Amino acid sequence: MTQLTLVQGLALAGDAVPSVRVMMPDEPGAITRRAVEILSRQIGQRCGAKVVSSGEAAGLVEVGIEAGIGTEGYRIVDGPGGAVRIVGNDERGLLYGVGRFLRSSRYDRGGFTPGAWRGTSVPRCPMRGIYLATHFNNYYEAASPEELERYVEDLSLWGFNLLMLAYPHWQYAGYNDAAARKMTEHLRRIMRVAKQVGMRVSVGDALNGGFTSTPQEMRCTPVPDPLGRHGNFGVNLCPSKPAARAQLLKNWEQLLDQFADPGLDCVTYWPYDEGGCGCPDCWPWGARGYLSLSRAVSALVRQQSPHVNVILSTWTFDTPPAGEWEALSAALEQDKSWADYIQADAHEDFPRFPLERGVPGGLPLINFPEISMWGQNPWGGYGANPLPGRLQRLWDQTQRKLSGGTPYSEGIYEDINKAICSQFYWDPERPAIETVREYAAFEYSPAVADDVVKVVEVFETNHRREQIGPSAQEAFERVKGIEARLAPQAREAWRWRIVYLRALIDCELLRTRGKLEGEPLQAAFRELTAIYHAEHAHSMPIRPPQIGGAGSK
Ligand SMILES: [Zn+2]
Repeated sequence: MTQLTLVQGLALAGDAVPSVRVMMPDEPGAITRRAVEILSRQIGQRCGAKVVSSGEAAGLVEVGIEAGIGTEGYRIVDGPGGAVRIVGNDERGLLYGVGRFLRSSRYDRGGFTPGAWRGTSVPRCPMRGIYLATHFNNYYEAASPEELERYVEDLSLWGFNLLMLAYPHWQYAGYNDAAARKMTEHLRRIMRVAKQVGMRVSVGDALNGGFTSTPQEMRCTPVPDPLGRHGNFGVNLCPSKPAARAQLLKNWEQLLDQFADPGLDCVTYWPYDEGGCGCPDCWPWGARGYLSLSRAVSALVRQQSPHVNVILSTWTFDTPPAGEWEALSAALEQDKSWADYIQADAHEDFPRFPLERGVPGGLPLINFPEISMWGQNPWGGYGANPLPGRLQRLWDQTQRKLSGGTPYSEGIYEDINKAICSQFYWDPERPAIETVREYAAFEYSPAVADDVVKVVEVFETNHRREQIGPSAQEAFERVKGIEARLAPQAREAWRWRIVYLRALIDCELLRTRGKLEGEPLQAAFRELTAIYHAEHAHSMPIRPPQIGGAGSK
């Protein structure tokens, strides 16, 4: 039996091994068992090494739990006989330790080289969430359950411990609508997987959102929206009308019932985009109608599901100023029993009010960074859209005052942005670009990580489609050089294809001066469409561009 040679330090060391034995503690919990399954499968899939739970193997990994490290933290140390020990403070911590170990390891044709990172790591923000939008037949609606399951697992390895979903009432006539029942089952399935990997789950919608069957007389007055930021495509009810208010409370009660299995940890109320009522009794919405209805819905939540936390979103509050933040602050000053978290963010800069005047009610503050849609249309239509510079700038604005957040995701093309946000929540001081390097080392190869960072920086420079410069040509050359150094599994994985295709597309658009024409672009857009399962998505803004010609659909 070949013993592992492990060297302390950040650099990868030791020889690749063809087989690994993974040892579990006695009586492992469900998350521990899942963590070991994920560890074993990832090693096997990434390099073909054989992973066993008993018997002889060239490498040994032991996992275990030891309280005292810090909530959801982990420690990775050398064990006896050349083993690597991954120890979680708790089951979640163990899973995140497995993630760190996998990311610091290496996968080549020769086998698996265990990561040499040793140390202790404990997350700073407790609410490390991700918001997966399930609508427009986007990836999260169209991908197979198995694929979504794997994706949620992958996210958990980065330390995400909260999954936020929205129920799109406005797409259906009622909860018993066949399509609505299908959506409920779909969301339940994603929630179950999330819980298996230690995530808490939240569901929500526009606080006053309703079904398409809502009678006209219950409907809202559109909100004043001079800046076009509040969204307006759904069915919203006016809670100042008694019948509409009763209907809304009934809908919320049923929404809680719909997800009693697998069980909710949080609910989220959204004021806008969708949402709001501009009638004289509700407006300003965030200062009046929204507050009044939130209190009523919270009373119902507290009674029906006392353990469920209420996340009160303030998305696009005071855009433009209408006294909404001020009124929320005054209301929570009087009584904050009806909310547990304040969620804040904006399309552009982070809102000033909670930073300068304090978070209303002194509640924990979580953000909602937009990682999918900014600056490109269709969203993800050109491949990977990494934005480390932008995300770092917006993160720095929050002055380390957050308890976490839930980035808004429309698809998988911003996988790198998700990783960046996960690490802001884990360690607020960690630069975004370092996470890009760690991501690249894990998903592609440690040998190409620095080159990938350079490519990502060029992608961000050329993010706006009308600003693609000559650097696109250099980036594509670099990408071709990286590809030649990748193991087959990494080269064929979608996480590499979306980077490769982005480089190719930018280079082509530079050549065609922005015209969507030619076979290379056509083939690239077709491949992206398949990766996103966007064949039946709303043509815009989810589906990559379609180019006319023999090969187009
Ligand atoms: Zn109203």
